[in-house]
Amino acid sequence: MIRVGIGYDSHRFVAGRALVLGGVTVPHPYGLAGHSDADAVAHALTDAILGAAAAGDIGRLFPDTDPRWKDADSMELLGSAHEVVRRKGLAFRQADLTIIAEQPKLAPHLAAMAAQLAGRLGVGVGDISVKAKTNEGMGFIGRGEGLAVLAVATLEAS
Ligand code: MG
Repeated sequence: MIRVGIGYDSHRFVAGRALVLGGVTVPHPYGLAGHSDADAVAHALTDAILGAAAAGDIGRLFPDTDPRWKDADSMELLGSAHEVVRRKGLAFRQADLTIIAEQPKLAPHLAAMAAQLAGRLGVGVGDISVKAKTNEGMGFIGRGEGLAVLAVATLEAS
């Protein structure tokens, strides 16, 4: 049986931090605010994987009140969440993600993000899709206040 999970994350842009998405540092004048490294791609995918296993969410596993996760590498958190679902007898199969950001242009970095995520989850690059689009100037994303990420992941009994 295939299990499907959905994930969503958004973070506010701030000056003075690196912009890290899917484990890739993207050149940009702004990074994302957050307790961890604020990698919204890793966070959305983590929630999709945990959701597919009905295993809670990233905030429950790695609360931002816990100093252990301050400036945490979110790719490590993704790996830990993957381990949680593996222990439940589930194998990660594939994921599809959409990053919604007005700036910067992310197309040149999407393949590197997919490779990072695939490597972390032990699947092929063909099993991870990372797409990007703008919000056509509308809302908080359109005003450049932050970005958002949608993710869907499938798991299968291993
Ligand atoms: Mg987040």
